[in-house]
Amino acid sequence: MIPRTLFDPEHEAFRNTTRRFLAEQCMPFHAQWEEDHQVPREVWKKAGELGLLNATTPEAFGGLGLDRRFSLIVGEEVTRVSANGLIGFGVHDIVAGYLINFGTEAQKHKWLPKMATGEAIAAVAMTEPGTGSDLQGVKTRATLVGDHYIINGSKTFISNGTHCDLVVVVAKTGNTGKGAQDISLIIVEADRPGLSKSTPLRKVGLHAQDTTMLFFEDLRVPKENVVGGVAGQGFFQLMKELAWERLGIAGNSIAGARAVLEHTLEYTRGRSVFGKPIFDFQNSRFKLADMKINIEVGQNYVDRCMALCLEHKLTPQASAAAKLWCSDLYSKVVDECVQLHGGNGYMLEYPVARHYLDHRVLRIAGGANDIMKELVGRTL
Ligand SMILES: Cc1cc2nc3c(=O)[nH]c(=O)nc-3n(C[C@H](O)[C@H](O)[C@H](O)COP(=O)(O)OP(=O)(O)OC[C@H]3O[C@@H](n4cnc5c(N)ncnc54)[C@H](O)[C@@H]3O)c2cc1C
Repeated sequence: MIPRTLFDPEHEAFRNTTRRFLAEQCMPFHAQWEEDHQVPREVWKKAGELGLLNATTPEAFGGLGLDRRFSLIVGEEVTRVSANGLIGFGVHDIVAGYLINFGTEAQKHKWLPKMATGEAIAAVAMTEPGTGSDLQGVKTRATLVGDHYIINGSKTFISNGTHCDLVVVVAKTGNTGKGAQDISLIIVEADRPGLSKSTPLRKVGLHAQDTTMLFFEDLRVPKENVVGGVAGQGFFQLMKELAWERLGIAGNSIAGARAVLEHTLEYTRGRSVFGKPIFDFQNSRFKLADMKINIEVGQNYVDRCMALCLEHKLTPQASAAAKLWCSDLYSKVVDECVQLHGGNGYMLEYPVARHYLDHRVLRIAGGANDIMKELVGRTL
């Protein structure tokens, strides 16, 4: 209803490239990837060749040096077609953000060029079996012994867990008892002795997404592996980048909701009950109109947040509100749309059913929506 004004022609060209990549190189094989609970590594390399991984990485580090609207586009397109095996591209992009914004020159040179080509795959490990929302309560500890940290602990629900070549691990390095100041982000190379990975976790949806547990047992890394080189900055680094992660989730949610609505418009126009298309019942039209209005409102909020993000003015509260509202909306839309499809909406051959399975995580990951209310509540 209101045209998006966020993008320039080069963004639209990039969107078309992303769409073509998904349609030709991913979706024909996605069912197999769902069986395998992961996508082949070559897919990452193909995405890297097209510039879809870490578009924002500066050219000096092998990237395209583009703005974050390009990353937003990849997430939107992946969600639009439920290419759930590629949700990990977003996590990879988030790790690049940590390195670009906080990494030392050596860390940037070592990882960013390989990450941009898909040769190295990145994961971030915050959540533990005992704690997720309360990040300051992590138990994974990194103890400085001479020039090395010795890491012990375990992490769960880690996206890109099987394939990852580097993991940014949230660990306690301090003993001040002040929570945030004791936390560091540490880069762990996946081939170090002492790191083991579970088999892929069986999930409600996102069946092609590679999600595992990670275990660290007396794993040694040089102290230079602390992101930014200075211990005790981890919590603040996380909080800064989480605003972007949450905006990405909001953008994906609106793109997913929009796709589900489009599928449902087509379906309800094509299927007749009691002598007329489902679309022609006022009940259906009112529901669909409601969805359309909410999607447009959400899109405008997301695009405004994205504009603020480009100006480095996006607040954590604004992005928390976007994440909360848009992922809740996606849930409402997908639930209504399954209903409008009737029994077919429960069948996986219909896109709406795939969205039904895949969308649910968005209200949990990146910070549970209840936590988003806490963040906004603190500003009242
Ligand atoms: C598919 C998938 C992929 C993921 N990928 C990653 C990844 O790559 N890296 C990573 O580190 N993590 C990842 N996660 C983990 C995700 O970020 C956490 O699940 C999330 O932060 C919530 O933590 P938790 O599961 O420990 O829930 P808990 O912290 O146990 O919270 C459970 C529930 O309690 C309620 N709650 C908690 N705290 C409060 C509060 N203060 N006020 C009110 N209610 C509250 C909320 O309803 C919340 O949903 C992933 C999760 C999934 C499912």
